[in-house]
Amino acid sequence: MKVLKFGGTSVGSAERIHSVAHLISDGLPKIVVLSAMSGTTNTLVEISDCLYRNKKQEALNVIQNLEVNYYIVVTELFKTEAYIHKGKEFIQTIFTYLRSFVNKDFYPLQEKAVLAQGEIISTTLMHYYLEECGIANTLISALEYMRIDKDCEPDYFYIQQNLRRELAKPGTHELIITQGFICRNAYGEIDNLKRGGSDYSAALIGASIKAEEIQIWTDIDGFHNNDPRIVENTKAIRHLSFEEAAELAYFGAKILHPSSIQPAKKENIPVRLKNTLCPQDEGTLITQNSPAKNIKAVAAKSGITAIKIKSSNMLLAYGFLRKVFEVFEAWKTPIDMIATSEVAVSLTIDCTDHLENILHDLEKYGTIEVDRNMAIVCIVGDFAAGKTGLGAQVLNALANVPLRMISYGGSEHNISVLVQEEDKKKAMTDLSHKLLDAQE
Ligand code: ASP
Repeated sequence: MKVLKFGGTSVGSAERIHSVAHLISDGLPKIVVLSAMSGTTNTLVEISDCLYRNKKQEALNVIQNLEVNYYIVVTELFKTEAYIHKGKEFIQTIFTYLRSFVNKDFYPLQEKAVLAQGEIISTTLMHYYLEECGIANTLISALEYMRIDKDCEPDYFYIQQNLRRELAKPGTHELIITQGFICRNAYGEIDNLKRGGSDYSAALIGASIKAEEIQIWTDIDGFHNNDPRIVENTKAIRHLSFEEAAELAYFGAKILHPSSIQPAKKENIPVRLKNTLCPQDEGTLITQNSPAKNIKAVAAKSGITAIKIKSSNMLLAYGFLRKVFEVFEAWKTPIDMIATSEVAVSLTIDCTDHLENILHDLEKYGTIEVDRNMAIVCIVGDFAAGKTGLGAQVLNALANVPLRMISYGGSEHNISVLVQEEDKKKAMTDLSHKLLDAQE
């Protein structure tokens, strides 16, 4: 059985829902995971923001506009009066529910319930549309099986047991429709896997049922060898390993949620990125191993803050780094890159929620310098130990870009450099021209 996930733009209009319905109706058993129609989750966030600020009328206006849009979708989606009626009734129920929050106190828990409606709508509309076309399918609510634990990590055992139970229910068809993103938490409340989490849902579902393949359908023909939004003439990569894909996803390639690699890798399930606009395209295949190539791709992550801690106490001392890392652990802030010398350590973070507290706690260990507005440029390739020349080629390609930090040797797949945000484009373009294109 395959798991196919379709992103927001792939189901972004009645026409796009028709195309996806056509794609998934080939008679083969599959689980189809849907995002909310594009823009919906952002609008639900906007509604929640109004409710937090107690701007009731503003919230009602945004709800009203979204509702009107969905009535239009319903009339364009269905062919028969009966289904147009059924669709409208369903939309009305959802929006009555959304309006019920306007006169209540609003907490994060309610926000989660509000955000869940986007995926509930897209999957229900798809379920009805397939039904109208006479295509047997079963809608399974992710709230019946998808769950995170107290640390907000997926509860693998619960997910597997409950999903399998749902799938085994008598009368369940071989075409399953379910929601991405939404889940319940350890207390049974509605929660989610964080923004962009539908890919993660698909990977967790795929791992739970030991799927034959997990397909992530978007609007681009796979992972590109550089960021097409920044650099011209990028090319799709046909094959990546789990590690390479994880590095690219984490360091900015927006096509895949970084967390989604881990469940697939754990169960060794191939992940294929496919293009809804060009379904015959082979896309990018991600498996345990991939054909070696010197340099495969470049990605970049903006909004990075670099922190340097300079201290003569570090000289020949042990335990210094542990103390520094403990500060970040205490403030639940992940570190991305590290570079050390005998008298200083530099590291980068992308979450600055607790920056002031972190800096305050670090001050007792040395002099602190902070550089904001930096970017990590990540070069993914085959940097296996013992290979010569490749590191030099990367640095040569970056000869005209000021580098703040370099990380090499952390893994065999990656060299990362830290640059000022304003130099990011040049770094990425130079790497494309001097390395990627030269390799072709
Ligand atoms: N709809 C959610 C979001 O926009 C989840 C997803 O699309 O992956 O973040």
